[in-house]
Amino acid sequence: MTALLEVRDLTKRFAMGGGLFGRSRKVVHAVDGVSLSLQPGETLGIVGESGCGKSTLARALMRLIEPSSGAVTFRGEDLMAMTPAELRRARQHMQIVFQDPYGSLNPRMTVRQIIDEPLRVHAPAADAVRLERIAEALDVVGLGRHVLDRHPHEFSGGQRQRISIARAMVLRPAMLIGDEPVSALDVSVRAQILNLLKRIQRETQVGYVIVSHDLGAIRYICHRVAVMYLGRVVEEGPVETVFRDPQHPYTQVLVSAVPVPRVHGRKARMVLTGEVPSPLDPPPGCHFHTRCPLATARCRAEVPVLRDIGGGRKAACHLLTAADDPAAGPMPINNAGAPPTATRA
Ligand code: SF4
Repeated sequence: MTALLEVRDLTKRFAMGGGLFGRSRKVVHAVDGVSLSLQPGETLGIVGESGCGKSTLARALMRLIEPSSGAVTFRGEDLMAMTPAELRRARQHMQIVFQDPYGSLNPRMTVRQIIDEPLRVHAPAADAVRLERIAEALDVVGLGRHVLDRHPHEFSGGQRQRISIARAMVLRPAMLIGDEPVSALDVSVRAQILNLLKRIQRETQVGYVIVSHDLGAIRYICHRVAVMYLGRVVEEGPVETVFRDPQHPYTQVLVSAVPVPRVHGRKARMVLTGEVPSPLDPPPGCHFHTRCPLATARCRAEVPVLRDIGGGRKAACHLLTAADDPAAGPMPINNAGAPPTATRA
């Protein structure tokens, strides 16, 4: 089966300031050699701390910002080689929903105009035909056609996000990217939107890439998850396996921060010491070595490669053994024991 999306070694660098009086320009390595894939009907979550590059990656996947290098293939077609006109045509099959349901809708437009906009650009047809599709999209997100002539300020945050989803889904895309799609919403509304996304996926086989720092939402909605740290994917695999038994030290810390109801006692939480290094000047070798309690001299000098570690998972850590390594033994790291110098809260 052809993958919906294939990403190989994608990088995005931003040049920052400099140039005057011979000062050298600094470069932010926002996305640093990311490879991913997505199948139809699948949901891939991308998680990590603020500034890890996940939102930049989401935009680069659609070429909303231009990647610096790497390959992106969408339904077998090379997105990077497309002309602006070809890219516009391809974009009707890939849509994006942003975090802020307040800022992403034009307050002067009615719901009908908002949802009609992508149709006019990508699927022009008679007014009556477009109106029927707009009404269908509103039915899908549970708002109904009676809201057609209302304005965004007349809706709650959850309802506005439903309008954003209707606008994205009206073109019946094959892929939807959600950049923190539920982060601005109340907990109960968040669950409604996640359930709505799940239902739409069951009915249409749309593939989702969901970027979020909300690990609970990611675990609920995703099939697979990729964990990012300073522009690189450090672990990737089936979401339940990664959350139940994280292998990379950074994933272990992230997962330990998710609140889990427990009958006996409180789950120990691992807390990282030190600041996230600046992407302007990322540490050499493993980017995580300045905060990793297990770091060795090798970690400071050599970049760990994202390798298959078995069970459909990949991780980038010198301490983990590759699945095809003849000397493969038990994983040296597991979440049964905390890294020696991590503090517990
Ligand atoms: Fe820690 Fe080294 Fe593994 Fe990086 S490669 S996560 S520094 S042990």
